[in-house]
Amino acid sequence: MVDNHKHQGNRNKLVKILVEKGIKDKKVLDAIASIPRHLFLDSSFENFAYQDNAFPIQSDQTISQPFIVAYQSERLEIKPKEKILEIGTGSGYQTAVLLELGARVFTIERQKTLYLKAKNLLPKLGYTPEKIIFGDGYIGMEEEAPFDKIIVTAGAEHLPKKLLAQLKIGGKLIIPLGKTEQIMTLYTRNGTKEFSKEELIDCRFVPMLKNTSTQE
Ligand code: SAH
Repeated sequence: MVDNHKHQGNRNKLVKILVEKGIKDKKVLDAIASIPRHLFLDSSFENFAYQDNAFPIQSDQTISQPFIVAYQSERLEIKPKEKILEIGTGSGYQTAVLLELGARVFTIERQKTLYLKAKNLLPKLGYTPEKIIFGDGYIGMEEEAPFDKIIVTAGAEHLPKKLLAQLKIGGKLIIPLGKTEQIMTLYTRNGTKEFSKEELIDCRFVPMLKNTSTQE
């Protein structure tokens, strides 16, 4: 698994593009500058890995666009040691960004192939989530709740109520809401029953699939 000066040069260019697109958080930009995104993709994408695009991974899913990864991370205002629940591990790239930010990450993936791949790859690259599980993100991770922040990286038609309930008071949840196209939506828990909601930007994610049985 090679990461050389050429990859680093391409990452630096990607960071410049993200700055031009409005990402300001230095810690988020540093994370993008240090994570070998090409190693989260099939080797045939090596020359494209640092373009600001989503790309196909296995199981008909995609690795999120770097701008979106940076944007979701920035809006969550992640601080070291915070407990973060991630729905949709996918390639594990967003997971690595959250870990670079110093968070304690609990992540769920419903595609077995992707779950197994990320579980194997992340530690090899020095990234160790607290928990990586094969399961249904609509249920969340009750046994580890409450979380400081929750990030959903698949498009949900409706807000999963169980996830809101797993948020600490003062915590934030970011989720793309909508069917084929979504609006990135940020919820803040202001009290036991008080939540505020902010609609941020248009985006397009693979769907958050609703079911109780996970895919083998
Ligand atoms: N953050 C990932 C995004 C992958 S795409 C990355 O950048 O690589 C979204 C992922 O969400 C897919 O891997 C998909 O299988 C997963 N997903 C969809 N519905 C889910 C659900 N209900 N629970 C957990 N994961 C889900």
